[in-house]
Amino acid sequence: MNHDYPVLAADVLIIGGGSAGAMAAIRAKEVGPDQQVVIFEKGDILYSGCIARGMDALNIVALPGHESPELYLESNGIACQGVMDEPPSYIMAKRSWEMMQKLISFGVFFPQDENGEYERLQVHPKGKFCVTMKEPELKSILANRARNLGVKVVNRTMALRLIKNGDRVAGAVGMNVRTGEIVVCLAKTVILTAGGTARFGLPENGYLYGVYDFPGNTGDGYCLAYHAGAELSGFEYTLVYYIIKDINSPLLYITLTRGAHLFNAFDQAFHESHPGMLLMHDEHMALRGPMRIVMKHLPEKKIKEIEDILFSTERPVQERFFKGRGVDFRTGEIELWPTDCFLCGGHGLTGVVVNEKAETNVPGLYAAGDTALVARGHLSGALVFGMIGAEQATEYARSAPEPVLERNQIDDLLADQEGKLSQSGNPIRVEEFEYKVRRLINDYVRPPKNGYKLDRALWWMERFREELKTMVRVADIHDLFKVYEVENVIQCATLSALASRERKESRWGLWHLRSDFPERNDREWLKHIVLRRGDHSLDVRLEHRPIIKLEGRHE
Ligand SMILES: Cc1cc2nc3c(=O)[nH]c(=O)nc-3n(C[C@H](O)[C@H](O)[C@H](O)COP(=O)(O)OP(=O)(O)OC[C@H]3O[C@@H](n4cnc5c(N)ncnc54)[C@H](O)[C@@H]3O)c2cc1C
Repeated sequence: MNHDYPVLAADVLIIGGGSAGAMAAIRAKEVGPDQQVVIFEKGDILYSGCIARGMDALNIVALPGHESPELYLESNGIACQGVMDEPPSYIMAKRSWEMMQKLISFGVFFPQDENGEYERLQVHPKGKFCVTMKEPELKSILANRARNLGVKVVNRTMALRLIKNGDRVAGAVGMNVRTGEIVVCLAKTVILTAGGTARFGLPENGYLYGVYDFPGNTGDGYCLAYHAGAELSGFEYTLVYYIIKDINSPLLYITLTRGAHLFNAFDQAFHESHPGMLLMHDEHMALRGPMRIVMKHLPEKKIKEIEDILFSTERPVQERFFKGRGVDFRTGEIELWPTDCFLCGGHGLTGVVVNEKAETNVPGLYAAGDTALVARGHLSGALVFGMIGAEQATEYARSAPEPVLERNQIDDLLADQEGKLSQSGNPIRVEEFEYKVRRLINDYVRPPKNGYKLDRALWWMERFREELKTMVRVADIHDLFKVYEVENVIQCATLSALASRERKESRWGLWHLRSDFPERNDREWLKHIVLRRGDHSLDVRLEHRPIIKLEGRHE
């Protein structure tokens, strides 16, 4: 076995340099300037992650004098239909204003009116928590700040496994996605911030990477946590959005909250500024779709305002997209369509179980952002929990023992890598294989679900796990890296099918709609389904767990 790989040392290792990871790195250096902070980033930290795809608002800010964390709990509890641990959501809302002020101090721009009031929109059941942000450079601001504070960023490095010393986390093994070289980072603490599973169901446009969320996120954070023994929850919350056809970009609430109209294909209007995904999906499935956004009636000033948001901060490529399609908002309309099905902590409820300190059940392991279960926290959740994770991790690192390199753990991984590299004679390209895996996720895990389909999903995922070894060709390092990603997608689909099969009711509108248990059943199912690894990687243990209320708060 070749032991000639670099071994880095860190107090805090952050896996994933997106919104949560970059903020965690900044905060770790602020509270522990003497500590070594390392980021493993699969892409390039300047461009990677959700906010590099566009961002127009902090969806949750409890602005003092306007909204309170208590109202947010109430509001998010409604949105989560009661399946929400209150302490993490409460602390997130409580520290959201502090986080926004931090961004302002970094130079991030939040428009204010002549009275100095920030623009606030209602996109939650209660309260105007969504604050408009106009900052196309948000990602580079965070990335550069982390670098300037002395954070070591290891780009193009995909974390493959966490290292443990006994029960404690002790670092991670990464692989350079261009050269295949292994890099080990021994760390006293690890913060997982590797996003959700964006590449899950196949999008209707058929492109592997044409998804709603950041396509570099393949559930690696969930899988790293799972293999290290961390608890996961919310895998039955399978998100499907209904947004711009083909490009899968957001625009719905940006336009509807500014006066745009929503019609079905029969010109019936839906006068709601926040229509439910289920409503639109139902129209679509009842063959009254596609739904359409129309803005012809809006004054030029409003249209310009919308264009300004969409084409500068939200997703600039939309300008080219609409031009290419010959769509002008003044005369044309925007066709909507269901997106791919995906798993995510920020938009949904899927994630590593954390408490209000971002701690997981594995000592020394923290999680934040879309990897963590801070119910529907969006960007605010990612940034606040990035801060919290960093504060807790730096504190933990001060008294944690030095991590020890247990070479057998790296050897296992090297053996696995060698095995994969010996697959050069196999017949199927990894891209074709990924297409098939995700097509079958659409068939059997994407809602509406039922017991039969979920059993089929599990059967297929077991088969895919085998075929990944026996059928898929690994001709070069690029293939190798993709095989690791697809392995994680398969693992996520298995967890999702198991959790979905377990929850014998329907909840969260379309997102866990079971045709064999069509009713919501609060009496039996107002609880979490928690998953964790048993004796080996295929041994998934399921447990039902009560919802945690904030101390002193009861229904
Ligand atoms: C299109 C879109 C629009 C949105 N709009 C808004 C909005 O307006 N307001 C709002 O509040 N929220 C919004 N959100 C949600 C918000 O952006 C996310 O919740 C948040 O940015 C997630 O941050 P994160 O750090 O968890 O994930 P990301 O920012 O996606 O970062 C994950 C990082 O991990 C890296 N990574 C993945 N796997 C590995 C691995 N194995 N090893 C190393 N690195 C890895 C990835 O390359 C990536 O850089 C939007 C999301 C999307 C997708």
